[in-house]
Amino acid sequence: MKRAIFPGSFDPLTLGHYDIIERGAKLFDEVIIAIGVNADKKYMFTLEQRKKFIEKAFANNNRVKVVTYKGLTVDFCKEINVDFILRGLRNPADFEFEKAIAHTNRDLAPVETVFLLTSAKTSYISSSIVRDVIRNNGDYTKLVPKSVRI
Ligand code: ADP
Repeated sequence: MKRAIFPGSFDPLTLGHYDIIERGAKLFDEVIIAIGVNADKKYMFTLEQRKKFIEKAFANNNRVKVVTYKGLTVDFCKEINVDFILRGLRNPADFEFEKAIAHTNRDLAPVETVFLLTSAKTSYISSSIVRDVIRNNGDYTKLVPKSVRI
């Protein structure tokens, strides 16, 4: 069985993440959305809220699971016996950033990173833009799945 983890902060889940997860779930038997817990990072949404948004969005897709983890992604892959890391690419900045992480991860463990190119429709969406729109009372509903409601 081919399993991948999709690691990230998901603060909050966006239509960009949703698109990558849906497409990833067609390539892999199981996509485990892994919410990284970083004690030094300030989040807009609590871990419970972020997890609930994702669980609700994929309630009808039994190939998608949601977990939380601490520490290195490759250590977590080893712990749950997963061979693939799924990541999304939006632009050259994402590529440069992801390339360094993927090389480092491959030095640390025999884990392959698989990249999916963002869909044209969602290529401009990021959690940080969504948070900015929310903070300034804008209409964020076009940028996130229906499960993300405040
Ligand atoms: P991080 O905290 O690691 O930046 P995010 O929660 O922002 O995590 O994103 C997790 C993954 O989702 C990353 O691979 C990121 O490139 C991808 N992603 C985010 N937004 C989009 C989008 N609009 N289209 C495609 N991939 C995306």
